[in-house]
Amino acid sequence: TETVERHAFGAEVEQLLDLVVHALYSDREIFLRELVANAADATDRRRFEALTGKVPAAPADAKIRIAPDKAARTLTLTDSGIGMTKEELAANLGTIARSGTKAFSRALAADAPGGADKPSLIGQFGVGFYSAFMVADRVEVTSRHAGEDAAWTWASDGRGSYTLAPAEKEEAGTEIVLHLKSDADEFLEPIRLQHIVRKWADHVALPIVIASDGEETAGNEGTALWRKPKSEIDEEAYTAFYRHLSHNFDKPWATLHWRAEGATEFAALLFVPSMKPFMAVEDERRSRVRLHVRRMFISDEAELLPPWLRFVQGVVDTDDLPLNVSREMLQATPALARIRKAVTGRVMTELGNRAKNDAEGYAAFFEAFGPVLKEGIYEDVERRAEIAGLLRFKSSATEGWTSLADYIGRMKDGQSEIYYLVADDPEALARSPQLEGFKARGLEVLLLSDHVDAFWPDQLREFEGKALRSITQGNLDLSSFKPEGEPEAESGDVGAIVAALKEALGEEVADVRATDRLVDSAVVLASGEHGPDLQMQRLLRRAGR
Ligand code: ADP
Ligand code: MG
Repeated sequence: TETVERHAFGAEVEQLLDLVVHALYSDREIFLRELVANAADATDRRRFEALTGKVPAAPADAKIRIAPDKAARTLTLTDSGIGMTKEELAANLGTIARSGTKAFSRALAADAPGGADKPSLIGQFGVGFYSAFMVADRVEVTSRHAGEDAAWTWASDGRGSYTLAPAEKEEAGTEIVLHLKSDADEFLEPIRLQHIVRKWADHVALPIVIASDGEETAGNEGTALWRKPKSEIDEEAYTAFYRHLSHNFDKPWATLHWRAEGATEFAALLFVPSMKPFMAVEDERRSRVRLHVRRMFISDEAELLPPWLRFVQGVVDTDDLPLNVSREMLQATPALARIRKAVTGRVMTELGNRAKNDAEGYAAFFEAFGPVLKEGIYEDVERRAEIAGLLRFKSSATEGWTSLADYIGRMKDGQSEIYYLVADDPEALARSPQLEGFKARGLEVLLLSDHVDAFWPDQLREFEGKALRSITQGNLDLSSFKPEGEPEAESGDVGAIVAALKEALGEEVADVRATDRLVDSAVVLASGEHGPDLQMQRLLRRAGR
């Protein structure tokens, strides 16, 4: 009496399945994320439609159940979601209806460069429901649409066709049975399943349970702190989440939690650490802010912040992206570009406010992360000036930290340049003979000793119209500034000494000149007017150039 219908897959599905089945998978655990996401979506949809009375409500204790059966070598996922009618089973699981998967399969089919990376693309980003065929050689989906009596089973081995047959199902919702491939035993282990759920679906609101040996264990926490209103979260909860996320032990110095509405909607929860983490932030030059789509973890490689803000930890969660957003899409999609811009802007505003209102805290922040921030000067032309305003410096004239704006405020009459000196060692800097002439004239010099300091001043060039000038570079004329106190040095013999030195050094130097730079010391090295300054030359020598 049973009428089993056989249907061919759409051409696109077949192409996709072929790839899925034949790929080598590094991340094939992704299939579980995809199926859990579908179950969660279906439950949400049922809740929503129940509000308007279209379908009966889901049971109050609705959950997603994951049940491995070692004897039968099956993994069964059950939900109490909206379910699918016969027509929906055919349309949703027999064709590629969804734009995300469509774009994805087109990208895979087009023999784009990086074609060799296809398997890992599938693994990393999933291909929705069809991911099931990475681990199963037969999949049966039995579903009953909420509010209807009839249930149907969709079944396929992922090769060319699927069948549809009437079924019995007591409750509305969907049950998916995966007959696992011989090399997919790991997905029968409750511990392994637990681990996967924790990793990808920990923040799904619906309970996810792993059912094994007659016991159900909770798989997820379901908190998604960032989705809660701020008023419901206390400092302790923020700190606990920050520590969980960053593996740091400090308290966050800044906590930024907001919801963006408008063209692109997202929730963000970001933290600026109060201490430099043990793991040097310089090690890996990219932001690890986590991207979630509808609570589901997608990637910590979406580079939601530029590398020069990589010390910021946190989560961004948006509804405006498909779950299986591919690597290319992560780079190119306009929604993500908007999110990046908004999130970066927000962090910069916060840093600016704190620099203004919490000088002490900001100094500690800068001590820890200033060198990272400075990279932005040569990496981000657009934000260059803004970043420069956030920089802090040691100086020959002040204790503690000072800003470029404060330096300009202290400039002498007639001074048009911002003087700075770069060296490896902050101690050596303060004692450098290069400073003598400046100190004697009451001219302030910024003292730079971070490893990036040899690079960014040349890129920045100027701040608020004042040129930056390395004091080891070129022919500095300080003659318009009178030394304070001390009488002017006798300059009578200098001409003869200069000539003698030139003679003695010959080709070793480009030039020998009298200078205002010195007071007590006899000689000092300087570089040419347009070449690299001394610190840069040191670095180049070290690099063997
Ligand atoms: P996506 O979820 O991005 O739409 P999928 O390939 O994961 O793409 O799923 C295709 C479609 O199948 C879904 O849009 C949904 O309509 C349907 N579907 C999948 N799983 C379920 C489920 N557990 N309950 C109800 N519908 C589902
Ligand atoms: Mg899906």
